Amino acid sequence: MIAQADIGLLDGFERALINGRLRMAYQPKVSLSDGRLRRVEALVRWDDPSLGAVPPSRFVPLAEKHGLIDELTQWGLRTTLRQWLSWREDGLDTCLAFNISALSLDQLDFPDLVERMCRALDVPTDRLVLELTEGATQPLVKLMDTLTRFRIKGIGLAIDDFGVGYSTLMQLRQLPFTELKIDRFFIEDAPSSKESALIVKSIIDLAHGLGLTVTAEGVETEDQLRLLRDLGCDVAQGYFVARPLEPKQLIPWLDEFEERWHLLIRDEPQLP
Ligand code: C2E
Ligand code: MG
Ligand code: MG
Ligand code: MG
Repeated sequence: MIAQADIGLLDGFERALINGRLRMAYQPKVSLSDGRLRRVEALVRWDDPSLGAVPPSRFVPLAEKHGLIDELTQWGLRTTLRQWLSWREDGLDTCLAFNISALSLDQLDFPDLVERMCRALDVPTDRLVLELTEGATQPLVKLMDTLTRFRIKGIGLAIDDFGVGYSTLMQLRQLPFTELKIDRFFIEDAPSSKESALIVKSIIDLAHGLGLTVTAEGVETEDQLRLLRDLGCDVAQGYFVARPLEPKQLIPWLDEFEERWHLLIRDEPQLP
């Protein structure tokens, strides 16, 4: 059964997808040790002339449910890889993070498809990290083969929104992830709540123990950034660092953030 309200939305989405009216925004992820750009996460955007900006949380699940997710993934990945080439022409060789639906992982040949797309555009596979949400990775052990195939090809794997979905500590240990992203729910009150800070610290230590790079999502304030740096978190992403950007905004942002980072570090209390 499809809800009446969803029919119009699905229809509009399909037209936007077919007619090339979706776009990608790119949100930087920076290293907390030196402030340098680690990668950019591609986030799909749909600005409908009458509906306005429709968030991916509305249309991605619809696309999944109604057989449009593969097309969305392929369009998004192609667009993102092409964008990488264009940044590289401008002298920026960075890494990409790309969100994938767990549904795509049901197909054993999906890793080959992704590799072929990278090859076709001459983007090295080690420049790509795929982000999976924890909830979506529930029947995880079934995905083991597909995930391992990605790793063999040099493609990284991040577990997204960690801590709010099913608890998957066991699965974390078994599956070949390379990165863990702590959900912004925990980051939000970490500076004001000892308990939240402790949870964040525990997740960081646990992830490091498993050899994973740790990213904090939803970093909106300077206090959060400083705390995460103190707690040993590797990477920060969030509005404080940068909002999702238009492609042409990325290089100007690099200069602006470099300056901001220097000021941040300069004001950091020095250890005796
Ligand atoms: P996500 O991968 O966890 O992406 C992070 C979301 O948080 C993005 O929302 C981003 O704009 C938002 N965000 C980033 N920094 C902050 C912050 O400091 N504060 C707050 N409040 N929010 C922040 P967005 O773009 O609406 O995407 C929502 C979700 O939709 C994504 O969550 C991802 O799961 C999914 N998604 C986005 N693009 C794609 C795509 O191309 N394909 C697939 N399959 N899923 C996508
Ligand atoms: Mg993500
Ligand atoms: Mg997330
Ligand atoms: Mg999310």
